[in-house]
Amino acid sequence: FGLKGCQKIRGPQLRNLLEAKDFILLDCDGVIWHGETAVTGAAKAVSSLIRHGKHVVFVTNNCTRPRESYVHKFCRLGFTDVMLEQIFSSSYCSALYLRDVVKVRGQVYVMGCDGLRTELEGAGVPCVEEADEAGATIYDCALAADVKAVLVGHDDKLTFLKLAKASCYLRDPDCLFLATDNDPWHPLSGGRILPGSGSLTAALEVSSGRKATVIGKPSRFMFECISSQFSGAEPAKCLMIGDRLETDMLFGSNCGLDTMLTLTGVSQLEDAHEYRDSELSANRGLVPDYVVDSIADFLPAFEE
Ligand code: PLP
Ligand code: CA
Repeated sequence: FGLKGCQKIRGPQLRNLLEAKDFILLDCDGVIWHGETAVTGAAKAVSSLIRHGKHVVFVTNNCTRPRESYVHKFCRLGFTDVMLEQIFSSSYCSALYLRDVVKVRGQVYVMGCDGLRTELEGAGVPCVEEADEAGATIYDCALAADVKAVLVGHDDKLTFLKLAKASCYLRDPDCLFLATDNDPWHPLSGGRILPGSGSLTAALEVSSGRKATVIGKPSRFMFECISSQFSGAEPAKCLMIGDRLETDMLFGSNCGLDTMLTLTGVSQLEDAHEYRDSELSANRGLVPDYVVDSIADFLPAFEE
């Protein structure tokens, strides 16, 4: 296999690569912003891609907001010309999966943020209402009779009762078990971290003895959503750009896309080299084809 991948790319080479692609898929956190702060030069890079006729599509595992709220966030952070149709989040794609793939009949129990529930309801997928059950326990709480799927995602109001209810619903083998994404944690400023959806999925997998179907990256479903909504989004015409090897690079290679790691987020160049140099063939999908320091590097490449 040798030392394929991890090619540092800039200037005319980078321009040639971008010219060969029609679709640029961008992960969000760690690539274009960190929380509420835009990555320096990212907004200019995105508008320059759009000006050069590229379809720019955002692919985020963050399931906490509905897409409308992302449109506002893009605006607030200086990405002025991003439209709803360009945003693919794990919550939106979970809603599409439940509505169009599973065609769920009955209610969905959501262990996740309100934003996730809003996205499902917007797609016409009914969710079990989270009752105000202060003081209730799993012994005396109400369980809905027609729950056909449990969907787990990042939940900043997680309680033991929610975990217990979800575990009960999953006793029914006809009740599907889905996870928006399996991200383990997310970096915050000051060296703190936020546990990700994956940490909650893991809890529920243990208590139910089942495995969740993951909708977000690295699973291919998000790319299926993109290619069904944009004609011409063939793998060879797409470049996937992200900051996390285990989600973004694996997603790209699972879908047959060229991949690019930016060094403004979670994964470092040494991590990529470690996967590249390992003997395990299972690690190949984690190795980026290309590496840039930041997507701000696109600006000089276009200008040359
Ligand atoms: N999920 C949550 C709850 C997050 O806070 C973040 C990043 O901050 C993500 C997922 C990862 O998002 P992305 O896929 O855009 O990196
Ligand atoms: Ca990211």
